[in-house]
Amino acid sequence: SSQFPLLAASGLCKSFGGIKAVQDAEIQVPASSITGLIGPNGAGKTTLFNLLSNFIRPDKGRVIFDGEPIQHLQPHQIAQQGLVRTFQVARALSRLSVLENLMLAAQKQTGENFWQVQLQPHVVAKEEKQHREQAMLILESVGLAHKAYDYAGGLSGGQRKLLEIGRALMTNPKLILLDEPAAGVNPRLIDEICDRIVNWNKAGMTFLIIEHNMDVIMSLCDRVWVLAEGKNLANGTPEEIQCNAKVLEAYLGQ
Ligand code: ATP
Repeated sequence: SSQFPLLAASGLCKSFGGIKAVQDAEIQVPASSITGLIGPNGAGKTTLFNLLSNFIRPDKGRVIFDGEPIQHLQPHQIAQQGLVRTFQVARALSRLSVLENLMLAAQKQTGENFWQVQLQPHVVAKEEKQHREQAMLILESVGLAHKAYDYAGGLSGGQRKLLEIGRALMTNPKLILLDEPAAGVNPRLIDEICDRIVNWNKAGMTFLIIEHNMDVIMSLCDRVWVLAEGKNLANGTPEEIQCNAKVLEAYLGQ
């Protein structure tokens, strides 16, 4: 199955009023890759993420995930299939502990069984224990185990990004869409976030990453897709993209 992409979207279109945010865009994310999505401000990157995860319905287009069309599914169903996303602005609940934030991310997934769970308290206890154990393992893997019982609101920008990734990992995903993991993060922690992404990738996790920090994109990505004005401008290896005349022009023009 490494022959065909884990995620393949084509012909995606989305307009907001008169603004064509995404126009006939395509993207492919091979299984086990770290794939980058770049482009100047307003290029349509976040909109494309919203279309891939169906947070916004496309006007047109097709999204295939793990061999199945998904555009008829709700975002939480898409997450259950193994496609999750993080947001540019981290969404952790600041008055809950770091550990509770992770456990909540797992519970959301089982929300549909809520009435059943209510009738069987021992199931709740068992699930809670499992979620707690999984959360502690994930906190180790994101380097936040020492913060497990602290309020999420007290975390730094970079730690919030790690928590956001941890929340995504709690859903046992196949593919994580990462929206600007390095934005607002101090340089030392950027290196740590990159190292951890590489480690999760080595463990088999696939990533699609929006990022303005070119050092991060160039060091992490197997392949990079470039959007400009809502359209595909280029895709290739980081080296190919770095010296692509059209790409350089699009960035200089902004
Ligand atoms: P940035 O790098 O600055 O985050 P981006 O590449 O993620 O930009 P988008 O946020 O997807 O770009 O925006 C693409 C275009 O669509 C922009 O012109 C933006 O103003 C417009 N747009 C995005 N969302 C909406 C919305 N909900 N309503 C109206 N216009 C929108």
